Amino acid sequence: MKGIISLKDLSIHSKKVLMRVDFNVCQDEKGQITDDTRIKAALPSIRWVLEHGGALILMSHLGRPKEKLPKFSLSPVAERLSALLGKKVVLASDCGGEDSLRLSKVLKPGEVLLLENLRFNPAEEKPEKDPSFAKSLANLGDVYVDDAFGAAHRAHSSITEVPKYFGAQKGAGLLLAKEVEWLEKTLTNPGRPFLALVGGAKISSKLGVLKALSEKADEVLIGGAMAFTLLKARGFSVGDSLVEEDTALPTSKNLILPLDFVCEKGGEIKIFSHEIPAGWKGMDIGPTTLKLFDEKIAKAKTVLWNGPMGVFEDPRFAAGTREVAQAIVRSGAVSIVGGGDSIFAIQQAGLEDKFTHVSTGGGATLEYIEYGKLPGIEALRQQD
Ligand code: ADP
Ligand code: MG
Repeated sequence: MKGIISLKDLSIHSKKVLMRVDFNVCQDEKGQITDDTRIKAALPSIRWVLEHGGALILMSHLGRPKEKLPKFSLSPVAERLSALLGKKVVLASDCGGEDSLRLSKVLKPGEVLLLENLRFNPAEEKPEKDPSFAKSLANLGDVYVDDAFGAAHRAHSSITEVPKYFGAQKGAGLLLAKEVEWLEKTLTNPGRPFLALVGGAKISSKLGVLKALSEKADEVLIGGAMAFTLLKARGFSVGDSLVEEDTALPTSKNLILPLDFVCEKGGEIKIFSHEIPAGWKGMDIGPTTLKLFDEKIAKAKTVLWNGPMGVFEDPRFAAGTREVAQAIVRSGAVSIVGGGDSIFAIQQAGLEDKFTHVSTGGGATLEYIEYGKLPGIEALRQQD
């Protein structure tokens, strides 16, 4: 990344390295971690610091706590990280407070300290509320590293304010750099044909991305519920399918809409083409669409995918998403997938290892595609 120092080029020996990671993992009702992908994704940077003689102070958010509740504690994360590293991980009881300061002072090279949930302090999400929060975090380390790609679209204290205190002693972690390099390469110089696949529920949240992708990709294949909003605007009947009214819709000619749908009405399932009768709800793309998408995907050299093709959580409507995933893998194209639900769907299909790059950040990926930059990345730039 131009103008940004890589973790590998920072001098970290005998230094305290303050690293922002994305440990916002999924948990069940009992607090058990159900998916530790994000912890594993940060391991290369973590190991790099420990193997190069740094003392590591990690910080992350978890969930959206309104107050300091035990269920939002990073304690299960500390345990899992410790198991993955095979080494002790000390958890501070606060985040930038007295306990953090005390523990960071005695931290030695090769040791790991994890601060408690950043969002226990309201100033994490609203830096203007209390600039001293960022300062107290910055105070803990000699070097700052951001490896939290999944949070790089947030202008939060630990992401955009803390690095201001580090001058040339700040840089990008290995995961962050890898994520950005893939996106940069795909968006600026993709192998063609370059296909984008966009699905999911809400078109309003993906309008900017659709527009950006329709300019960069040769074609954009649309699935998921957003297809109905587009079809309705073109005068087709969509029955009781999910639509969003009053959205300014993209008109790009290279948007390819589904030809048929798997629809449901009171437990009954039927395939309809564009004209879905009243009472029926489109839940997945249909077989004719799958055939069309498969043909296009087979010829593609690059595929960027965000958003499931149907309500994949229900096995009756999972085929579209699963088969599109299989088609991408079969095509041998360079394949990049982003989005929490999309990744969950390819994991369900057992295909996550078959994609070229599976992004750890849904929102961050989408914002990068739309704007070509992210607050978390800009905050790492060296002034010249
Ligand atoms: P991602 O997390 O990959 O970015 P989104 O959050 O945008 O994806 O969308 C995922 C959601 O879209 C899923 O919960 C899925 O059930 C829903 N969805 C997909 N197709 C439909 C549909 N036809 N009708 C209603 N919801 C849909
Ligand atoms: Mg989602």
